[in-house]
Amino acid sequence: MEMFTYTKAAEVPQALQAASQPQAKFIAGGTTLLDLMKLNVERPNQLVDINLLPLSQVEKLPGGGLKIGALVRNSDLAHDPTVQSDYSVLSQALLSGASAQLRNMATTGGNLLQRTRCMYFRNDAMACNKRAPGSGCSAIEGDNRTLAILGTSKECIATNPSDMNVALTALEATIHIQGAKGERAVPIGDFFLLPGSTPQRETVLEPGELITFVSLPAPKAGSKQVYLKLRDRASYEFALSSAAIVAVINGGKLDFVRVALGGVGTKPWRSFEAEKVLHGKTPDERTYREAAEAALRGAQPQSENGFKVSLAKRCITHALTLATV
Ligand SMILES: Cc1cc2nc3c(=O)[nH]c(=O)nc-3n(C[C@H](O)[C@H](O)[C@H](O)COP(=O)(O)OP(=O)(O)OC[C@H]3O[C@@H](n4cnc5c(N)ncnc54)[C@H](O)[C@@H]3O)c2cc1C
Ligand code: SF4
Repeated sequence: MEMFTYTKAAEVPQALQAASQPQAKFIAGGTTLLDLMKLNVERPNQLVDINLLPLSQVEKLPGGGLKIGALVRNSDLAHDPTVQSDYSVLSQALLSGASAQLRNMATTGGNLLQRTRCMYFRNDAMACNKRAPGSGCSAIEGDNRTLAILGTSKECIATNPSDMNVALTALEATIHIQGAKGERAVPIGDFFLLPGSTPQRETVLEPGELITFVSLPAPKAGSKQVYLKLRDRASYEFALSSAAIVAVINGGKLDFVRVALGGVGTKPWRSFEAEKVLHGKTPDERTYREAAEAALRGAQPQSENGFKVSLAKRCITHALTLATV
């Protein structure tokens, strides 16, 4: 590990000032960053510890939404009474991730920005365009069983590994950011970037910018919410395919539906195609299968991950069934 300086910030302006130099990194729970520093993948010259910032609250917003501080721990968020009752898809997604110990440390901001688990990204002896732009992609001709089939490019096929991000996508969250130039709010659908020819850029966050909180719109009255995660073992494992569903049925028809997918996309994947098929239809298995077909129509599997196409279809169909029984 290379040498770095360490600052513990108690106020947001102090954190922004400390992070203003190139190669600075914020550290929250440390469960992604420290691993990657030990692997020589992340090499910050300045670590700005943000754990003392006053960003650990979950608060109801006057308009009926929810404000989640960037430092709210994943376990606290999953067990928050309002999240459990009104945004249960988020609670389910968080509790499906990692382990109890990791969730006690992991934060909302850190989870949003966790890096891919692509094995070549995590091994600095291998070519990887995300870690070393222009070096090539070892995964495309290599071990790609767990990698993405939606939103890929010739430069990178890495999966966004987060469960929380999938639920936040279905809930249409907004990410609130503060930086040297002021504050801005970015809908989650615009926050994550496709790899294209610049896979090293994963979000619209600029160097030195801090995520301060995440907001959720008012909950959909009467909505049923499900997060279904399929993986190689029942716990302590990332998704091969997951689906977050928020659905409201009125008069026997799907009046409102949001479908987001995990484990298959290079970013948390909102399926507008599936939603279009579902909207206004009678909730039944045939419609769900059609929606799943639509969601995966653009899939581009690699040598080892073709199974994800049918797995994701089954995941969507079953999650919709669970959400509407
Ligand atoms: C063994 C293991 C299994 C796991 N399994 C799962 C799983 O099944 N599902 C899942 O979703 N996740 C899983 N994870 C990932 C885990 O959820 C993330 O490591 C965690 O959420 C990251 O949060 P953190 O606070 O520790 O982030 P950190 O490591 O502190 O930070 C991560 C990144 O975010 C940046 N950052 C942090 N906070 C901010 C902020 N407020 N503003 C700007 N930048 C910020 C940091 O600079 C860093 O680049 C697993 C991790 C491990 C180690
Ligand atoms: S898939 Fe992306 S992260 Fe993995 S080796 Fe290729 S460029 Fe790197």
